[in-house]
Amino acid sequence: MSSVETLSSPNNSSPKDHTTAATPQVPEGRVIPCLDKGFVRLVDSMGSDAAIVQAARVSYGAGTKQVSEDRGLIRYLMRHAHSTPFEMVEFKFHVKLPIFVARQWIRHRTANVNEYSGRYSVMQDEFYVPEGAQIRPQSATNKQGRAEETLSADDSAQILELLKNGQTKAYQDYETLLDHNFARELARINLPVSMYTEWYWKIDLHNLFHFLRLRMDAHAQYEIRVYAEAMAEMVRDITPLAFEAFEDYALNAVRLTAPEIRAMKRLLASNDLDDAALLESGLSKREMAEFRSKLEKIRA
Ligand SMILES: Cc1cc2nc3c(=O)[nH]c(=O)nc-3n(C[C@H](O)[C@H](O)[C@H](O)COP(=O)(O)OP(=O)(O)OC[C@H]3O[C@@H](n4cnc5c(N)ncnc54)[C@H](O)[C@@H]3O)c2cc1C
Repeated sequence: MSSVETLSSPNNSSPKDHTTAATPQVPEGRVIPCLDKGFVRLVDSMGSDAAIVQAARVSYGAGTKQVSEDRGLIRYLMRHAHSTPFEMVEFKFHVKLPIFVARQWIRHRTANVNEYSGRYSVMQDEFYVPEGAQIRPQSATNKQGRAEETLSADDSAQILELLKNGQTKAYQDYETLLDHNFARELARINLPVSMYTEWYWKIDLHNLFHFLRLRMDAHAQYEIRVYAEAMAEMVRDITPLAFEAFEDYALNAVRLTAPEIRAMKRLLASNDLDDAALLESGLSKREMAEFRSKLEKIRA
């Protein structure tokens, strides 16, 4: 597929306006472009905030009188990890993504997936080429990441040329192998992981929140984060109350470990946060760095 269309216009209403679980205007068919040639398209969805509330009331019955307002109930469920009502809502997405992003994405086992078949069909000549701002050096502090700064214009130009040349050569060779009537299932094996693939991906809201928490995080690779943020936008439209609760109690929350709580007690008592105090609280050097980054997040 070379181009996509928006089949209906997005619903941009503010989620914070609602305190009851109204039925949303579902923007099915909405497409959000991702990276240079990819996209996320909402194919279908089932349920809304109302479905979460309805399921919760089955289990709580009269108890919900204490938390009778929908927003309060949804926030209570999220805060207390009562997760099954969130499983009543489902989303089906059509996604076009580079294979290296798909490799990370597929690790999330709680979804249903159906992918484009390179055995059945010819792979399309479409590869991910990072934009200039992403042509960055290896991070010195994070072995799994890229640094903040960009490379020199000369280096960037050479890198882009190498990437594009490699992709062109790989695809030309693929076409030559097909011309020799070599089976498609083997002709593809030298194609690079920058090649785009497509799949349908269906998941319930509880497991989607788990995916989004991991893949919208700053530690996730930029390229998968772009897709997570696109899906988050669609989810926010359809389940605004649940998404607000997710943001407050999961996405933007921090979890403190027992040694961190000990360190926090010292911090509150004496504002004493040197390495020795943290060591005494039981934190390793790595944990100290993680704790300091949590404190930065809290202060930000
Ligand atoms: C920043 C980052 C870096 C990563 N780096 C690496 C890496 O270097 N190498 C690597 O291999 N992976 C890596 N991963 C992938 C990671 O280890 C997980 O496989 C991935 O995030 C999926 O998480 P999950 O298993 O919680 O999610 P899901 O598969 O969506 O599962 C959701 C939850 O369901 C439960 N569950 C599902 N299936 C099972 C099962 N079969 N058994 C038990 N419980 C189950 C678990 O509670 C799980 O948390 C990385 C992930 C992130 C976010």
